[in-house]
Amino acid sequence: MKKRIAILGSTGSIGTQALEVIQQNPEKFEVEVLTANNNVDILIGQAKKYQPNAVVIANPDKYNYVSEALKNEPIKVYAGADALNQVVQMETIDLVLTAMVGYSGLIPTYNAIKAGKNIALANKETLVVAGEIITKTALEKKVEILPVDSEHSAIFQCLVGEFMNPIEKIYLTCSGGPFRGKTEKELQLVTVENALNHPNWAMGAKITIDSATLMNKGFEMIEACWLFGLQASKVDIIVHPQSIIHSIVQFEDGSMKAQMGLPDMKLPIQYALGFPSRIKNDYSRFNFLNYPTLSFEPPNTKIFRNLALAFEAIKMGGNMPCILNAANEAVVEAFLNGKITFLQMPVLIEQTMQKVVFVQNPTLEDLIQTNAEARNRTMLLIENRK
Ligand code: MG
Repeated sequence: MKKRIAILGSTGSIGTQALEVIQQNPEKFEVEVLTANNNVDILIGQAKKYQPNAVVIANPDKYNYVSEALKNEPIKVYAGADALNQVVQMETIDLVLTAMVGYSGLIPTYNAIKAGKNIALANKETLVVAGEIITKTALEKKVEILPVDSEHSAIFQCLVGEFMNPIEKIYLTCSGGPFRGKTEKELQLVTVENALNHPNWAMGAKITIDSATLMNKGFEMIEACWLFGLQASKVDIIVHPQSIIHSIVQFEDGSMKAQMGLPDMKLPIQYALGFPSRIKNDYSRFNFLNYPTLSFEPPNTKIFRNLALAFEAIKMGGNMPCILNAANEAVVEAFLNGKITFLQMPVLIEQTMQKVVFVQNPTLEDLIQTNAEARNRTMLLIENRK
């Protein structure tokens, strides 16, 4: 039986690489649903090639264009946010890969879990914003959440066969991004182009900026807490510029397991899609002699404030990680549009965290409201700053 996959966000970096994995393994997988936000031409091309049962274009203004282009294909075309929430519940889906950008992943992922679909989770913001609700609902529905993020896939792989053994500590590795070792003064001058130039990973714009500010690592720490049931105090961040060790689990006997390999997102994608089986491939193999030194250093949370803010947010709990995420999405967009500088981003996030009403035990509705309120706050702060 082939695994029937729905890819939410199929035109992005993770989505397109997942389709490559599927194309290389036609006897194992088939594409059931593809969705995109705005990227109609890529979506249409993918639909013609992979022949899903249905496609969803989230922006309803683009429905006619997509539906016209696919009128001779046996593919259902839907548009809008409601369609996205419904399509994930289709009976013919075995696994939903959530690869959208940011907060937009939350509600469709929640609906997929409610419908009992196993999740390959690439959208970390879902767990940052609503980790408690998502993990609780997944448990109730007996749904598996398989991590696609390379660090979490590494930890997940290290934990196979260890479910009885408590975790003493997790070391999340971090490349350090393009600005590792830079001083505050040097960071005053960096451009959007500098920030988009990641040394090891080719990714979408939003996550690349998050990697440069280390917010990505902060989000991954929160994601790890929810995925593996840990307090933040058990998660350490270690900068490892070569990105060969993808993360490490330390057990109560002091033994450590690490998962290694060349940095290639197709590996964690393939592991999540194929789980529990590993799939043979011919990707490049790691060669120790090409890497005589693997190095490690602590992150600088004084300069890269976002990482410290993420630890504060998860320790406070409640809706604070949701505020953190909403403020971050607003500042990243403003930075990409040239409205604010690199170093203004953490300042604006911290101000938003201080201003939005704190809720200790938020419902999903509360989080939806918090997200809107925090975004508005940050946008006001951006406009009124002097
Ligand atoms: Mg990652």
